[in-house]
Amino acid sequence: MKSVDAHLADILATVRTLAPLELELERALGTTLAEEVSSPVPLPPFDNSAMDGYAVRAADVAAAPVSLPVIDDIAAGSGELRAIGQGHAVRIMTGAPLPAGADAVVPVEWTDGGTVTVRIDRPVREGNAVRRAGEDVQAGEVVLKPGTTIGAAQLGIIAGTGRRRVWVRPRPRVVVLSTGAELVEPGTQLGPGQIWDSNSFTLTAAVREAGGDGFRAGTVTDDPAAFLDQLDAQLVRADAVITSGGVSMGAYEPVKEALGPLGTVRFEKVAMQPGMPQGFGVVGDDQVPIFTLPGNPVSSYVSFQLFVRPALRKMRGLPAGPPATRPAHLLAPLHSPEGKRSFLRGVLADDGTVTPVHGQGSHQLAALALANCLIMVPEQVTEVPSGASVQVIRI
Ligand code: AMP
Ligand code: MG
Repeated sequence: MKSVDAHLADILATVRTLAPLELELERALGTTLAEEVSSPVPLPPFDNSAMDGYAVRAADVAAAPVSLPVIDDIAAGSGELRAIGQGHAVRIMTGAPLPAGADAVVPVEWTDGGTVTVRIDRPVREGNAVRRAGEDVQAGEVVLKPGTTIGAAQLGIIAGTGRRRVWVRPRPRVVVLSTGAELVEPGTQLGPGQIWDSNSFTLTAAVREAGGDGFRAGTVTDDPAAFLDQLDAQLVRADAVITSGGVSMGAYEPVKEALGPLGTVRFEKVAMQPGMPQGFGVVGDDQVPIFTLPGNPVSSYVSFQLFVRPALRKMRGLPAGPPATRPAHLLAPLHSPEGKRSFLRGVLADDGTVTPVHGQGSHQLAALALANCLIMVPEQVTEVPSGASVQVIRI
């Protein structure tokens, strides 16, 4: 049997980081920056007021309370300004440019709010409530480096430097296909021998959680030709494909039967539980990576976390490797098969303890839905006593 690490290494050696493209900012959330972003101008571009109040010379209000004539009114967005002279005040709003001659802003709360003359109750330091040009960013300064994941704040500063479009590595487009003659759509009646398809929902959502754009392509029955047709139809819009089911040792394994003869997808047993039957390779003229995951709901989900998630990180241009683990204090004994790495479902508490959930079968999706971590038990370990330190992967 192949080790978990060797399988992931093969996958990461095959998948390619997506080529950069230039996107409108509205479409760039969750992508990876592929260029250096710098500001062409200082930010703020000009000295401006940090508060609503009065622009003054600090020296003129040192003897406050004082009354000064209000010679102008400057709103945010004002362009043409009169310089202020000695003993003058100018009413000014937050974000409005500071007029020449002024060196401080008196907050309106420290005044009587006058519009012809203003009484100023307190003195201010020079520079009070003034935001200097370039205080946030100098002209030419790099604000974001390539490899940065673009979230809301990052989008904000890109727009804040005046950019409308940005070069990024896009979110990978991942098509998710469930196979199984027993599957019917949720929302319809179950017939004899049928179950509702859950994997395509789980896996599409897992793709989204992992920073990709998941497309649920629905289910196909256990017919290799129908599977190939559906795959073919979906490949045009896919950077990667995930299938579930149809890769085990039984009869009617459409994924294995359809892709096996191509020679570009390898079906292997990986030394893990759940999720032993795995397949990975490339399909189509564009050599699109395909992950053929086992059908049991917990198996396909665990396989996604171990193999697909790191691959998506590589496609996004991010550092990629095995999922991060952390130690936890186990509160119940565990059994694990010899020679396989186990990923048992558990609840990790804030105090660092972890409790396995009831129902560790690979079909027990309800138990998975209660868990927040996978408890890892190494290949050679078969019994783990309560109280032991274990490594867990957060999910
Ligand atoms: P397979 O890998 O196709 O042999 O399927 C293994 C088990 O997983 C069977 O019990 C299937 O009914 C179940 N299964 C397969 N695909 C799905 C799916 N999309 N949703 C829920 N259960 C599934
Ligand atoms: Mg099946």
